[in-house]
Amino acid sequence: MLVVLVVLLLLEMIVLRPLRQLARLTDRVRFEEDTRVPAPLTRRQDEIGRLAQAFNHLLAFQRRRTHSLVQLSQHDPLTGLANRRLFDRRLARALDEARHEARPVAMLMIDIDHFKAYNDHYGHPAGDVCLKRVAQAMQASLAAPGYLLARTGGEEFSILMPGADLATARQQAETVRAAVKALGIEHGTAPHGDVVTISLGLAVSTPTEPLAPGALCAAADAALYTAKRTGRNRIAASPMPA
Ligand code: GH3
Ligand code: MG
Ligand code: MG
Repeated sequence: MLVVLVVLLLLEMIVLRPLRQLARLTDRVRFEEDTRVPAPLTRRQDEIGRLAQAFNHLLAFQRRRTHSLVQLSQHDPLTGLANRRLFDRRLARALDEARHEARPVAMLMIDIDHFKAYNDHYGHPAGDVCLKRVAQAMQASLAAPGYLLARTGGEEFSILMPGADLATARQQAETVRAAVKALGIEHGTAPHGDVVTISLGLAVSTPTEPLAPGALCAAADAALYTAKRTGRNRIAASPMPA
């Protein structure tokens, strides 16, 4: 009887308890980002130890895969920039935070001028190269690490500028516009000139007139339309409240 009890006790301590620990971990993985099998289990030199190590490897593999899937779902494969999904999420968050902290949020809506003519003349692959170069130049000209440049459409981009007021955002817009023009990408068929240019629409959500994401985008879009209509290769700002 005593022997049976001792065997059962050892079985409980050496096998069953660690297995239950592993089982509980599989539940926690779903809720806790950095769940790991405790070191005493992975250090064991038996089957349970090997199971624990395998479990840790599987967890690390799963985390890497989830991370790369999240990256893929939030970025544009051609330019490597953030995509619309990520931009929309950051915009909503920035406006939310700005409302609590009574800070402005500015955004730029950007569109390459006469890009259809560029594609028609130089071909789609050259158009893709152009998009990449324009994206790189714009990214390099961002004035603050908190600013986010995204490819929000085919030849359309947006820049989110948390904390930027109208003057700051206008300066950033001019830097971006000049950087793209300075690339000097030949565009012989453009009616307005000989190199690739962009038009920019600027809108700002202010502490006194905070805007919802949709309203800020609509204001930037309207300003972009004005920039296009008044000659392209320029910045237009949406009318600010008096
Ligand atoms: P506007 O100055 O008024 O913006 O004129 P636009 O010609 O740029 O405007 P439109 O919307 O007529 O044309 C946009 C073009 O962008 C059409 C499409 O061929 C091109 N485009 C969109 N996405 C891509 C892409 O991923 N690669 C390439 N090469 N071209 C693209
Ligand atoms: Mg367009
Ligand atoms: Mg265009």
